[in-house]
Amino acid sequence: MIEMPVVVCGLGGMGSAALARVAMRGVRVLGIEQYAPVHAFGSSSGKSRIIRRAYFEDPAYVPLLDRAYELWRELEARTRAQVLHLTGLLTLGYDGSPMLAGAHAAARAYDMDVEFWDASAIRARYPALAPLDDEHGIFERDGGFVVPERAIEAHLALAKDHGAQTRFGVGMRGWESAPDGVRVTLTNGETIRCEQLILTLGPWFRETLAEIGVPLVIQRNVLAWFAPRRPLGPDQMPCFLMDRRGLPSEFYGFPDVGDGVKAAFHGYGEHTDAAHLDREVHESDVLPLARALEMWIPGAAGAYREGKACMYSLTPDRHFVLDHHPRDARVTICGGFSGHGFKFASAIGEIAAQLALDGGSPLPIAFLSLARF
Ligand SMILES: Cc1cc2nc3c(=O)[nH]c(=O)nc-3n(C[C@H](O)[C@H](O)[C@H](O)COP(=O)(O)OP(=O)(O)OC[C@H]3O[C@@H](n4cnc5c(N)ncnc54)[C@H](O)[C@@H]3O)c2cc1C
Repeated sequence: MIEMPVVVCGLGGMGSAALARVAMRGVRVLGIEQYAPVHAFGSSSGKSRIIRRAYFEDPAYVPLLDRAYELWRELEARTRAQVLHLTGLLTLGYDGSPMLAGAHAAARAYDMDVEFWDASAIRARYPALAPLDDEHGIFERDGGFVVPERAIEAHLALAKDHGAQTRFGVGMRGWESAPDGVRVTLTNGETIRCEQLILTLGPWFRETLAEIGVPLVIQRNVLAWFAPRRPLGPDQMPCFLMDRRGLPSEFYGFPDVGDGVKAAFHGYGEHTDAAHLDREVHESDVLPLARALEMWIPGAAGAYREGKACMYSLTPDRHFVLDHHPRDARVTICGGFSGHGFKFASAIGEIAAQLALDGGSPLPIAFLSLARF
């Protein structure tokens, strides 16, 4: 049997950060990942993930975002990898849009240095954009995107530099509580005894969370890239998140930084699970995206370049779960990121380490505990 003080299971966006943060505390840690490093089968691939602070989902996330920004910058400084691309971000919607109202509430609550633009101000700053007359928005200069693959790579490198061990290509079959620790069984039959187990299983969390009364819905969400018919880099368009009447859900996108303009609907797709995800991207996925993109940014949806099907892990209230396992406090759960978690990954890694090593985090995470279910 292998003995290890801390085991992190699942080395995607959150687990790679947790592995780095535990190792940086000087604690021996082993990371287990069923696939290869920086693989494309989970929820953390697709070249870009939006980051923003005027957080419509709940202003309670803002302190976590502030810590996430600090830690992304620290990661960049330590590894010399560019992870953040602060292109500016426009959150826009119609009068009375709940999403826009939520972004306003967060911006006001934290007195954020943002700009409030009506349709003509949007057209004046970004002539490429075509807002409807009743649409207005909040512009965050420090909004933009995180590159998920580079972030995972950087966190794994940082973890290794601090002595973390990793096992790729082998899964966790299960874990059980014992008086002398938590026993983790691997798919190759090996057993590890640890003092603390951090679970960062992404869309593979369904059974673990269902057992403790959190029904997780795994949703297929498609990303698509288009070759624009005119230059649409960060000088011509910011990252955006829009609530427009007539679209199937909120719609967001990214300027062309070499791979085309990328767009997706937020939280729109059939329910599935990690074993049965339809990974093929169909014309029926791409056409509604191309139509919505072309109306908003004429010329953006030129030739379709590529698409990717990815998975949201939706909790009933769309908020994360960061807590100890109710059956064994030596097991930390970081999951249910509900399609908006990546921007926080740097901070989630720190929180996971604090939950495991200190029993709690100084960051205000009570609203993300299991007690709410
Ligand atoms: C299409 C799409 C767009 C998104 N856009 C944004 C965005 O713009 N901004 C934002 O902030 N967030 C966004 N998100 C959400 C964000 O990407 C996720 O919240 C985040 O990637 C979740 O990371 P994770 O580490 O929990 O999951 P994953 O990265 O999937 O990691 C889980 C890991 O656990 C491993 N694993 C699972 N079970 C086992 C086991 N038994 N043994 C060993 N290994 C195991 C898996 O192989 C995987 O590597 C988006 C998500 C999707 C799908």
